[in-house]
Amino acid sequence: MLRRPLALIAALLLILLISWSLRPKPSAEVARTALIMGTLVEIKGVGPDQKHTEEAISAAFDIMKSEEARFSSRIETSQISAINRNKGALEADPEVLFVLQLGQQISRQSAGAFHMGLGRLIKLWGFEAVNPRVPETQAIKQLLPAFTQDAVSMAGTGVERTDPRIQLDLGGIAKGYAVDRALEVLRASGLQSASVNAGGDIGLLGGHGERPWKIGIQHPRKPGELLATLELRDRAIVTSGDYERFFEIDGVRYHHILNPQTGLPARACQSVTVVAPRVAEADALATAVFVLGPNKGLALLENSSAVEGLIVGADGQVKVTAGLKGQVQWR
Ligand code: ADP
Ligand code: MG
Repeated sequence: MLRRPLALIAALLLILLISWSLRPKPSAEVARTALIMGTLVEIKGVGPDQKHTEEAISAAFDIMKSEEARFSSRIETSQISAINRNKGALEADPEVLFVLQLGQQISRQSAGAFHMGLGRLIKLWGFEAVNPRVPETQAIKQLLPAFTQDAVSMAGTGVERTDPRIQLDLGGIAKGYAVDRALEVLRASGLQSASVNAGGDIGLLGGHGERPWKIGIQHPRKPGELLATLELRDRAIVTSGDYERFFEIDGVRYHHILNPQTGLPARACQSVTVVAPRVAEADALATAVFVLGPNKGLALLENSSAVEGLIVGADGQVKVTAGLKGQVQWR
């Protein structure tokens, strides 16, 4: 063999060339969008194998759709609709129990500012309908006494509404929960880096490659402009704002986050951003803080060491939790 060294070298070079061209491709980012829970959901995944990343993302969308089918009060066959129709207690599955328990906990922490039983009130305002409107004061007043207590009572796996005027609407927590589930699927598929953004409910897996994810916080009064950015890994970041879904009559802005005490759109904030370990928790807390307003809201966020946040008050003044202060990059 040594008699033909050139042929040997050529053969080795060829093998090298082939294995080089067959090497795993450098990490490619895949981004896909889908319409779920009435929101444009964007999932980005980074992985060495594009096809595998695409499959992981489509499995993540699938689980979000199945959570929508479970939690939407606008889908007749959902478990939430069944609870809403039922007079007594109904057996609920573990996922529904988990979300109701988390929601009720945040409801109590926020003295009822977050409330999962506002379905009838939300219907009166018609935010989901084509023509939202300001309801009759009397119609609102009739509902309010039901919102001063827990939305449901739970015993074992049984769930029952606490008042016939309660209709569960999990719009303030279910989207966040669905994002958490999508992240679980992406993690289980072996992705080390992913982001799921469901209209401002954002869950992050790992960083963006070597760097952290850079997340922009929308300016609540300057459409298309950022107020600040944050660098995060393995976190949930959720923003609730009065600019997302609203209508105006005579210069008054009516939007979709309602104060359960008054039955009217909450007035104390323009937007609230919450950073937490889980998206479901961040989602519900953002809604709760929005209703509580900057002072009580900040106190609620400072109560938990795992939770941070940024609040833009109705006057445009910004408050930031102590743990987040050094990390905000202002625009
Ligand atoms: P978005 O859905 O725009 O992200 P939120 O997470 O703040 O906004 O949730 C608002 C939704 O939650 C409303 O559309 C409604 O379904 C429901 N909701 C409104 N007010 C409250 C409240 N005080 N507590 C809990 N849920 C609420
Ligand atoms: Mg919310």
